[in-house]
Amino acid sequence: MVPTMADLELTDDVPPEADDGVWLTCIECGETFAPFDAIRYTCDDCDGLLEVRYADLPTFDEFEGRGVWRYNAALPFEEGVTLPEGDTPLHRVPRLEDDVGVDALRVKHEGMNPTGSFKDRGMTVGVRVAQEVGVDRLACASTGNTSAALAAYGARGGMETLVLLPAGKVAAGKIAQASLHGARILEVDGNFDQCLDIVQDLAARGEAYLLNSLNPFRLEGQKTIGLEIMESFHADHGEYPDRIVLPVGNAGNTAALYKCFRELVKAGAITEDQVPKLTGVQAEGAAPMVEAIEEGAEDTTRWDEVETRATAIRIGNPVNAPKALPGIRATGGTAVAVSDKEITAAQRDLAGEGVGVEPASAASVAGLRKLRREGEVDGSESVVCLTTGHLLKDPDAAAEAGAEPEPVPNDTDAILDIIDDGSSSVGKSVRRQAGKVADSPSLPALVAGGLGLAYLYRKLRSKR
Ligand SMILES: *Cc1c(COP(=O)(O)O)cnc(C)c1O
Ligand SMILES: [Zn+2]
Repeated sequence: MVPTMADLELTDDVPPEADDGVWLTCIECGETFAPFDAIRYTCDDCDGLLEVRYADLPTFDEFEGRGVWRYNAALPFEEGVTLPEGDTPLHRVPRLEDDVGVDALRVKHEGMNPTGSFKDRGMTVGVRVAQEVGVDRLACASTGNTSAALAAYGARGGMETLVLLPAGKVAAGKIAQASLHGARILEVDGNFDQCLDIVQDLAARGEAYLLNSLNPFRLEGQKTIGLEIMESFHADHGEYPDRIVLPVGNAGNTAALYKCFRELVKAGAITEDQVPKLTGVQAEGAAPMVEAIEEGAEDTTRWDEVETRATAIRIGNPVNAPKALPGIRATGGTAVAVSDKEITAAQRDLAGEGVGVEPASAASVAGLRKLRREGEVDGSESVVCLTTGHLLKDPDAAAEAGAEPEPVPNDTDAILDIIDDGSSSVGKSVRRQAGKVADSPSLPALVAGGLGLAYLYRKLRSKR
């Protein structure tokens, strides 16, 4: 393991500042703080990142119920502002598994959370903390999904929400959500990293409570992704996965998963060699984490210019890098950059298995493919790819990656001629199935699907 300045070791000493067995520790200088006595996002002394620490860490048999709050024994509160979130599917993808060439491949689809991304897991805890410290205005900078989650959870908790977005670089579905859930949306003429600089200023001046992943409590909610993966993969497969591959933006999830595994090891729930290799994927146009891993650096160097169609990870200054880089290294993982073309191909691959994801999410599968091709990932490995957001988040990207609708006359025979022409085998098999009744999808799925389709239809028409 490459040495690191960050102090991420979990110790047994409970500091006097602990409140009910919970406190904050600076990962740079080791200073400890009471968790809720004041609002702070970084260390008072050295401005280092803070981490939530606990006097008692649970093992798997202490969890009960469903969703994020199933894991409340590993969280600072019994319950939070909930919609509810978590309990997302761990899909089998047999064709993709074969094609990629690994022993087992599962897809943890975080797009199935209430607002369509994993950000909900962080917000259910973060908004609960906001209540605890007594604030009424919440704020974030966002590439889109954080703003949708903040708007929904803020609305649920009866709080005012303010979101700063990079103008012109946020997918349509995400803005629509933030807007309808009542957030005040400020579009900044700048990129995400600049939005985050400003919202940190606002938070430092006491104007709003910051709910970006710099806030250590957000990561507590997000570490439940790791707990769910470990429990469901083990139930399905009889062992833990060798590797978890995930897209990296601000590296909050990477940091949260590493914390999850450090806590499980410390609690004695798993051994050190059962910890999955954390493997981060970035887009080639925004890859400061990959650069830091390749150069053996302790922190990332900010990229001022970033570009990728995976707008959710269009980030040049990953704030959680000091927590995430040691995690990638200590678990024996790696980081890899993929092209937008590879991301689109992976988005189609997943869609072909019925799993609809936004571009950033598909980066995980694109990265796994690349590492497998390069021999970095062995064919004997069992792998979980994290897909972070739903297809409908970015309808424009989906429509561009998918098939074009064909204009046809309003006439059955003419339509039959057209569909028999060129694609007759598909036509026949569809006709053979026609008598059978398909499994009925759930009502929310129908409503979401219907809304999405209507939206896509309008978009496609307006393109012509
Ligand atoms: C926020 C987000 C990411 C990046 O996650 P980090 O924890 O910031 O690394 C990736 N994909 C999607 C869809 C997201 O919304
Ligand atoms: Zn410090």
